[in-house]
Amino acid sequence: MDCIFCQIASNAITGKRAYEDDQVVAFYDNNPQAPTHILIIPRQHIATTNELELNHSPLIGHMVLTATKLAKELSLAEDGYRLVWNCNRQGGQAVYHIHLHLLGGRAMRWPPG
Ligand code: 5GP
Repeated sequence: MDCIFCQIASNAITGKRAYEDDQVVAFYDNNPQAPTHILIIPRQHIATTNELELNHSPLIGHMVLTATKLAKELSLAEDGYRLVWNCNRQGGQAVYHIHLHLLGGRAMRWPPG
């Protein structure tokens, strides 16, 4: 298993988890870009958002709802937060297993760098 996020999902590599169920794992980013920085990943290996198909819609919806649930639980919802998907090199993707960034706890800038 070469994929670092597959290893995290299977607990071969441990990390601080915020949430998990049979479809997704949410864990704290090890190089946080905000006071709260959580990554929500599917257990299923999908390399980039370019590989998403219609049948992935429930999974993607579940990832987004996991992020918004965590944002509420962690008291980020009222002030606001940012959800980010990076795709491929120019999108800033470094790990080729799709992940949704949940960033909160500070004011975000726009446009992103
Ligand atoms: P990307 O740039 O691909 O959208 O984001 C990848 C994110 O994964 C980065 O924010 C990076 O800090 C995080 N990351 C990479 N490897 C690990 C790891 O082994 N553990 C954790 N917790 N986060 C990681």
